[in-house]
Amino acid sequence: MELKPFERKIWLSSPTMHGEELTYMQQAYDTNWMSTLGENINEIERIACEKVGCQYAVALSCGTAALHMAVKLAGVKPGDNVFCTDMTFGATVNPVVYERGNPIFIDTEYDTWNMDPVALEKAFALYPDTKVVIAVNLYGTPAKLDELCAICSKHGAVLIEDAAESLGATYKGRQTGSFGTYNAISFNGNKIITGSSGGMLLTDDPAAAQKVRKWSTQSRENAPWYQHEELGYNYRMSNVIAGVVRGQFPHLEEHIAKKKEIYFRYKEGFEGLPVSMNPYDETASEPNFWLSCLLIEENAMCKQTRTATEASYVSEAGKSCPTQILETLASCHAEGRPIWKPMHLQPIYSGRPFVSVTPGADVGADIFARGLCLPSDIKMTAKEQEQIIAIVRSCFD
Ligand SMILES: *Cc1c(COP(=O)(O)O)cnc(C)c1O
Repeated sequence: MELKPFERKIWLSSPTMHGEELTYMQQAYDTNWMSTLGENINEIERIACEKVGCQYAVALSCGTAALHMAVKLAGVKPGDNVFCTDMTFGATVNPVVYERGNPIFIDTEYDTWNMDPVALEKAFALYPDTKVVIAVNLYGTPAKLDELCAICSKHGAVLIEDAAESLGATYKGRQTGSFGTYNAISFNGNKIITGSSGGMLLTDDPAAAQKVRKWSTQSRENAPWYQHEELGYNYRMSNVIAGVVRGQFPHLEEHIAKKKEIYFRYKEGFEGLPVSMNPYDETASEPNFWLSCLLIEENAMCKQTRTATEASYVSEAGKSCPTQILETLASCHAEGRPIWKPMHLQPIYSGRPFVSVTPGADVGADIFARGLCLPSDIKMTAKEQEQIIAIVRSCFD
């Protein structure tokens, strides 16, 4: 197949709208609830609780705000250690530092590309006073949640689940976003459903939900004037944004079904290539397949060099690397993305502790070096995806 550039750009994961969003936004306008109060907010909080199976949901301006509130609820104080997923988006970890906590990065396992329970157990041996763990379900694939939850309860630690990428994914039949004491989801523009922006804090603790309602609206006390006893934030979601989310929620399962088709079309399309897809435990979990990713076998990697800000490679017959594939995709007008660069490799977090299963092991750095995210846009046609597959195959010629 000739590698002809796409006429329209093929995105990694762009918003997919359905029309109902406009109805609910219009409703906010027509009723003049152009504020952080209104029926859309109430409705999506109800719908999220019902979907995820938790008691309370508080709609916020973004997933990062939800994580910040979760970190505050968990009681993180300056200098407190927090065990964090290492291979993730910076938004997982930054809220710890907003509270002047001390993130300690836990290495990744190869089975689901999430926090390694063995490394977590090791971290508790090294830092026994740690009381908070933040675990992600990367790219929509549930982590080893049974093991992570068991380790947290054994050590009396609070689990914060960052389910920003995994809304609708299940682990042993239970929805992600319900495993932590405090949980965060996101409605950012490229997530499985979107409000253009937005997020939510989910919990079964009524007092916690009440605190987040207060903190996120500038911490007003019950008084005739603006009375403040606690630090406040302007983190509440707009009722207009909530209208977009409300219009999207009925389409969550349909989005997941389409993402799943994309994943399996890639899997089949790459048969015979020295690559594998981002893995999951088929006996325990059903991902939401938010992003399809690929991992190149070690012996099929051509030479790839990454400095702090630049990437290059030396092409070699029969081999390839993420840089070559990403550049080839980009030259054809298709958007891929490197794997999240692990936090312990980020200049801002250099010098912070990193715990892996054995000294010197670094699974996150390995997946970062050999993996990439493929175009996973719901609006990509099967024919367009065949072309993406052909482009990837051509890199191994
Ligand atoms: C998107 C994302 C967030 C942050 O969500 P925002 O709504 O963009 O603030 C946090 N963690 C992970 C893993 C994410 O992918």
